[in-house]
Amino acid sequence: MNLVLMGLPGAGKGTQAERIVEKYDIPHISTGDMFRAAIKGQTELGLKAKSYMDKGELVPDEVTIGIVRERLSQDDCKKGFLLDGFPRTVAQADALENILAELDRQLNFVINIDVDKNILMERLTGRRICKECGATYHLVFNPPAKDGVCDRCGGELYQRADDNQETVQTRLEVNMKQAQPLMDFYEEKGYLRHINGQQDIDKVFADIQELLGGLQ
Ligand code: AMP
Repeated sequence: MNLVLMGLPGAGKGTQAERIVEKYDIPHISTGDMFRAAIKGQTELGLKAKSYMDKGELVPDEVTIGIVRERLSQDDCKKGFLLDGFPRTVAQADALENILAELDRQLNFVINIDVDKNILMERLTGRRICKECGATYHLVFNPPAKDGVCDRCGGELYQRADDNQETVQTRLEVNMKQAQPLMDFYEEKGYLRHINGQQDIDKVFADIQELLGGLQ
């Protein structure tokens, strides 16, 4: 099960990714999470990525492709993987095709979660994430049982530095500009599938499971 999950920031990628990897027992490969971990650990990669991320811009392709290549070569990806937040450019998509060909693999589906852009702004600025386990919540649409506390592990919830209004605006613009050529690329290859993300979280996941039902 070799999957790419797409959708503009706030489309529900993180929430659906959590469910997919749990149900199908495949690793969740989120380039955003990898960069955030690198920044937290103050590694060389973190230093390179930070200035771009703080501005809501894309980290350069050669840096991003390098970390994905390394990650996909690891043993736990043999049974499949879910890429989240990668690829973001056609150059990255091309590189992914090459990486997978080298590993004698190919993608099954590229799942795009469709959500109207006007709704995304509202969703993103209300997003909260657990410091401990990374679970995502929304102050209005998916609130935790207790304010500021993760339902799953009791960890403290925080707002991502790049979820502020100004950075969100830039991230949406950058992502929308990049997304179309990428969708054209995958449409042409026959991998692209659309899922309606403007539904209840459970219904979105049910639609994804229906799509993946036939895969091993
Ligand atoms: P995300 O968590 O996917 O929203 O990513 C947060 C930030 O990490 C983005 O705004 C970019 O700065 C960086 N990033 C994540 N994935 C990529 C990627 N595939 N290519 C370039 N930059 C990325």
